[in-house]
Amino acid sequence: MPAVSASDLLVLPRIERPDPGTTTYRPVSQVITSPSFLEGAGFPVRRPFPGPYGNIADPFLLLDHIGAIEYAPGEARGAPWHPHRGFETVTYIMDGAFRHTDSNGGGGLITDGATQWMTAGAGILHDEMPTDELVQKGGLFHGTQLWVNLPARLKFTPPRYQDITADRVALLSSHDGGVLIRVIAGDLDGHKGPGVTHTPIAYAHATLAPGAALEIPWRPDYNALVYVLAGRGTAGLDREPIDDGQLAVLGAGDALTLTADDLQDSRSPNLDVLMLGGQPINEPVVSYGPFVMNTRDEILTAIRDYQAGRMGIIPAVHLPHL
Ligand code: MN
Repeated sequence: MPAVSASDLLVLPRIERPDPGTTTYRPVSQVITSPSFLEGAGFPVRRPFPGPYGNIADPFLLLDHIGAIEYAPGEARGAPWHPHRGFETVTYIMDGAFRHTDSNGGGGLITDGATQWMTAGAGILHDEMPTDELVQKGGLFHGTQLWVNLPARLKFTPPRYQDITADRVALLSSHDGGVLIRVIAGDLDGHKGPGVTHTPIAYAHATLAPGAALEIPWRPDYNALVYVLAGRGTAGLDREPIDDGQLAVLGAGDALTLTADDLQDSRSPNLDVLMLGGQPINEPVVSYGPFVMNTRDEILTAIRDYQAGRMGIIPAVHLPHL
């Protein structure tokens, strides 16, 4: 998992260890094993939410984990032109590459630890495809796509595209230097990531060496989710086991604690997790495929607007294939 790494964790700014005397570590309230689906033109994803567990993720709507998968030549698939309205798609690529083109003029290559933060807002069309090289030659692919909701007052905000290249991600280490934390957006213990968010959110990728522990302050007004990208370990003071493809939903408190098992598989030598949190939006969610609104009427309007070309049109001249 190349993503972004650091040659010497000891030179990075460190997250201060919370004071155990005054800290409430968030307990694990639920561990969800992600079911698998086919998405887009037919690529496999693991999707810890949404699911039949109630509203566990607000302000997040959906998390797809793609790979890690070794594509054979001709096997890599993407999601050709489709619309979105009412939320944001956040695509993080650790291995391989995705090529993005949208009807708003946004576009580029997302690769090697880069994140694309696309605000669909009032409406956009986009095309998310593996590179021609990955399709032709095959190869390793590993990424995630997170859907972040927008509150009613921002559903019709103009579309926005943030290309968060890997070199802009804020790198931190744990108090003992055993954990690398990449802050993509939001603020962890005063350390800011580059992503600009519409509502308060924290989004980070942490790599825990075997046997390492992470203790990290977490805003009490945020929810807290930990998704295992690879490896195994535990979450919470009660050391609830978490494994590859599982999501830990954490309860109330003002800090998170995680540990990596001493023994990991050779194909994924570390515990890699996404840490997600945000202020719940607490509004009704009515979703229909690529549209996420507050009411059924707004969904019907979205379908009509899309059909009438009011979310944009597919550009006549595509960007050159990268
Ligand atoms: Mn999409």
